[in-house]
Amino acid sequence: MHHPLRSPDPGEERPGGFLRQFGKSVESTEFYSPVPEGYRAGRHVYVAVFGTVMSGLGKGIFSSSLAKLMKDKGLTVAPVKLEGYLNVDSGTLNPYRHGEVFVLDDGTECDMDLGTYERMLDQDLSRQNFATSGQIYTTILERERRGEYLGRDVQMIPHVTGEVKHRLRTLAMTGGPGGGEADIVFVEVGGTVGDYENGFYIEALRELAFEEGPNSTCFVALTYVLEPKILGEQKSKAAQLGIKLLMEAGIQPHIVACRAHQTVVENVRQKISMFSNVPLRRCFSMHDRASIYTIPEAMRAAGLDREVLSILNLHDRVDPTHEDDAREEWNSYAAQILAPRRHKAGIAIMGKYAALRDAYASIDKAIEHAATHLSAEIDLHWIDTSEITRENVAEHLAEDVGAGGVHAMIIPGGFGDRGVEGKIACAEYARTNGVPFLGICLGFQAVVIEYARNVLGMNGAYSTEFGGDGTDPVISELPEQKRIEGLLGGTMRLGAQDVVIEPGTLASWLYDGRPTVHERFRHRYEVDPEYVERLTKAGLVFSGRHPKHPIMQVLELPRDVHPYFVAGQYHPELTSRPLSPQPMFMGLVAAAIRRAEPTASRESISTRWLPEDAANPKKSPRPAPAPA
Ligand code: GLN
Repeated sequence: MHHPLRSPDPGEERPGGFLRQFGKSVESTEFYSPVPEGYRAGRHVYVAVFGTVMSGLGKGIFSSSLAKLMKDKGLTVAPVKLEGYLNVDSGTLNPYRHGEVFVLDDGTECDMDLGTYERMLDQDLSRQNFATSGQIYTTILERERRGEYLGRDVQMIPHVTGEVKHRLRTLAMTGGPGGGEADIVFVEVGGTVGDYENGFYIEALRELAFEEGPNSTCFVALTYVLEPKILGEQKSKAAQLGIKLLMEAGIQPHIVACRAHQTVVENVRQKISMFSNVPLRRCFSMHDRASIYTIPEAMRAAGLDREVLSILNLHDRVDPTHEDDAREEWNSYAAQILAPRRHKAGIAIMGKYAALRDAYASIDKAIEHAATHLSAEIDLHWIDTSEITRENVAEHLAEDVGAGGVHAMIIPGGFGDRGVEGKIACAEYARTNGVPFLGICLGFQAVVIEYARNVLGMNGAYSTEFGGDGTDPVISELPEQKRIEGLLGGTMRLGAQDVVIEPGTLASWLYDGRPTVHERFRHRYEVDPEYVERLTKAGLVFSGRHPKHPIMQVLELPRDVHPYFVAGQYHPELTSRPLSPQPMFMGLVAAAIRRAEPTASRESISTRWLPEDAANPKKSPRPAPAPA
């Protein structure tokens, strides 16, 4: 049963009262603010987080942590990230500049912050939870061409802001868990207040708060307190000026969240409070923490959640039992993160963007989740493969893998041919040296090429993505499969798909015997079915397939050949969550521990994640079967 937050009864002084005067008719009123069909003012509330002083302070982490606290209380939440850029989605963005492209179940390519929301809230999001200026303008320009503005000039205010409000209200109605209603919509405005491109989002939120009425919207200014080394003390001026900029835009924050390296001292919070009209008890120190997963509890300890409940008049909606249970589960995970680890191992990530951790943020997180559950301290080695060749790979990896610092390897996803030959060489190295291995997307394809070349003796094996003069396109873009998938040319296969798992395989064991799993894809090329039989005869096991079509989705080596060698055409890292780590990563971390501590007892590692045959990893794995 969903109870309305407050009486939806309209009236000037009541929540949502102003909404009455905003009609849908374009010509007759200046109050153009189309409201979605069936929207009931007062039924949903909004929290909007703005960044001041500078970007990169963790608005997404703040917003998702606060949303989690509210979700724990039994309220339904829907987060949204509003991006200022004109790209329609993040699919075309360079991960080197913007961090990884995150992919949702419905195939939306979005900002990596959506990954933070999914992990923190343990909630699957959709395209509704992500908006860019490009999307907003596209909607408006298309409507204008259809003549739907009835002769009016289309303006930033009210039309563009109207579209933003319409989206936020639609989200409130259908963006909650499982497509249901959301009690609270969490709006994260990208960039920093004062950025030209985000101005209309800020204006839209000002209008929204006015229309929805008192207690409908909680504005948070996330700011930064400087602590210059030469002064040795915290300074509030930049924060004051940043908040002033927000106030100039007509937004009076209810809460100020002060990011800082160290705890923000009381007199600095006093100054900020004084200059921003925000009571001291609502100016919070949000200093750096050892782990982001401890932030919700830190916010709670500081009373942030209670202030938000008061501002939004939600105290009587809290379900204390739900909250206790959720907190207990989360806090035991957070405690594990901070606890000393029993094991230590190194994992190498062989990537093109090895210099930029953000480009592989979800892999980093997935390893962290698995390592926490297995009580392992993982030392990550980022290895650029662009200089690696088949000839020099052993030499290249000597320092890491050879010297015993690295106990498992990951070849992540990627596009284009830079560094690919190096990845193929690394896949061969992992296969022939018994190094626990996880291939992801391009990493999966690299294994197939490597196997075809070096086990089947197909010297010309290649992927059509990379061009060149190969003779055997073992990885290719198949028009037939594109037709089957119903995709247009040039479009990628995106989003969650079913993967049928072959019983009795490593994959089946990892996935706990489930016959079908759901994983997220983002690729254009795949294994050419022409080669599947030859590869299989030569010992490569395709243990996960498309339910109907000959699309290979998981591959592995038998456990008597290699202690742990598995790859997915999909991105397993995207679905890993703190409380439910992704199984392929659990297996990899366990195998890495096993390699790092060959004498440790199985029980000390967690038997669940150690394949039987890996108990006695062979020094040199059995040579792969002869070519078919
Ligand atoms: N470039 C490859 C493809 O398009 C792999 C993509 C990826 O790793 N995400 O199929």
